Amino acid sequence: MNQTVTKYYETVIGLEVHLQLSTETKIFCGCANKFGEEPNSLTCPVCLGLPGSLPVLNKKSLEYGIKAGLAINCSINPLIKFDRKNYYYPDLPKAYQISQYDMPVASNGFLMITDEEGKQKRIRILRAHLEEDAGKLIHESACSLVDYNRTGTPLLEIVTEPDLRSPQEAYDYLQNLKLTLQYLDVSDCDMEKGSLRCDANISIREKGETKLGTKTELKNMNSFKAVKTALEYEISRHKSVIGSGDKIIQETRLWDESKQMSFSMRSKEEAHDYRYFPEPDLVPFIVSADRISEIKASIPELPFAKLERFIKEYTISEYDARIIIQDNAISDFFEECAKHYKDVKKICNWINGSLLQELNSRKSKLTEIDLGALELTKLIQKVDDEELSNLAAKDVLTFMIDSGKGADEIIKEKGLAQVSNDNDLEKIVEEVLAENKKVAAEIKEGKESAIGFLVGQAMKKTQGKANPKKVGEIIKNKLSND
Ligand code: ADP
Ligand code: MG
Ligand code: ZN
Repeated sequence: MNQTVTKYYETVIGLEVHLQLSTETKIFCGCANKFGEEPNSLTCPVCLGLPGSLPVLNKKSLEYGIKAGLAINCSINPLIKFDRKNYYYPDLPKAYQISQYDMPVASNGFLMITDEEGKQKRIRILRAHLEEDAGKLIHESACSLVDYNRTGTPLLEIVTEPDLRSPQEAYDYLQNLKLTLQYLDVSDCDMEKGSLRCDANISIREKGETKLGTKTELKNMNSFKAVKTALEYEISRHKSVIGSGDKIIQETRLWDESKQMSFSMRSKEEAHDYRYFPEPDLVPFIVSADRISEIKASIPELPFAKLERFIKEYTISEYDARIIIQDNAISDFFEECAKHYKDVKKICNWINGSLLQELNSRKSKLTEIDLGALELTKLIQKVDDEELSNLAAKDVLTFMIDSGKGADEIIKEKGLAQVSNDNDLEKIVEEVLAENKKVAAEIKEGKESAIGFLVGQAMKKTQGKANPKKVGEIIKNKLSND
């Protein structure tokens, strides 16, 4: 008889993130570190690996590596040593990559995530090391081309322990990591440009088992969402392989976004022996404790500390605070607004609503537009003072961002000021009542709900500029006094 035994599996995930550091120049030469330039225009004998050329470490890339390491709670190894990782590939002209093997610049850190039950969970970071990037191969139908512009750009590889338990946790870890790194200004963290790349290692094991299962490594995902989807796919593949009595083989698999499937790239048997050895052209050296402290002092308040402070200090909701801290510049802007204007909830609504919409529709960052915090709070104040309707104020904001002009100037130019003047409004109401005698009579008989219709007519007549609250009051007054 067939007996089905339901087995419960636990997912185990570890992530390797490659972060391109946004230094002016490459890690071991003076070539510019830039994306999107004419292929092979940013090269020199060092990054082309020509015989006799010698690498010199870029100070800034070390500073950025230490800064990022500290921000993810790592210990910094003051002895800086590089190693050669040997392998042959056309995008690697030296046939070795300068990396760090047994002495990574940073190790034993962690980042917090919120797990599925809403509890804080610590994801341990094993190590973060500096290395140089390889070039880029461009495969065309008849041939393959190579662009060495990326060769020698500085990378920080950040490796977690296998602490993640679901694709969602992996996604959350990546979000938190990216946000933290963005606050540091050490990388543009743009996955589309390849400034942030993630390889995901995954295995499953029966619940209660303490030994790790055989893992596969997924590459080639170009968004955090793709990482999540690829992991979900891979988990069900593992389950069906194991469920059918087969074994998972340790291998690297490429995620195919269009097919939504992973395909084997190379198995462990084909894996390279990199024959790491100390890089003889770069002498190990020590970074002083003072220098490390200096770098530590340059780290700004990090997003989760800021989140907690905002909730406490401004008594805004966690929901609002979470949106605001997603961008360091916006969170500074919020604090600046709060200096000029008391009602922080309203500031949140304006920033998280209209302002973010404006930025999204322009695909701009706050730092790329010309809008002062004081100007935004002046605009909000005008709605309070009934100088502007809420709707008109939104239009004014659009014009302010388009032109860089202040609210006053735009209101004057566009004639957007709200009509609040009693005489003007009375005249408008009289017209509306005269044109809608039947509705007016109904209201007099007690059908209060019809007032809204008349207010709407008054708004229409004034192209939305009448103060609706006042119009409603005047209508009521007029009809009860008649
Ligand atoms: P490799 O030498 O293949 O790169 P590492 O041991 O260096 O493997 O680990 C790379 C990443 O894979 C790390 O993030 C680690 O946490 C994760 N990892 C290692 N073993 C497993 C496993 N069995 N299941 C899931 N993730 C794993
Ligand atoms: Mg690996
Ligand atoms: Zn160069």
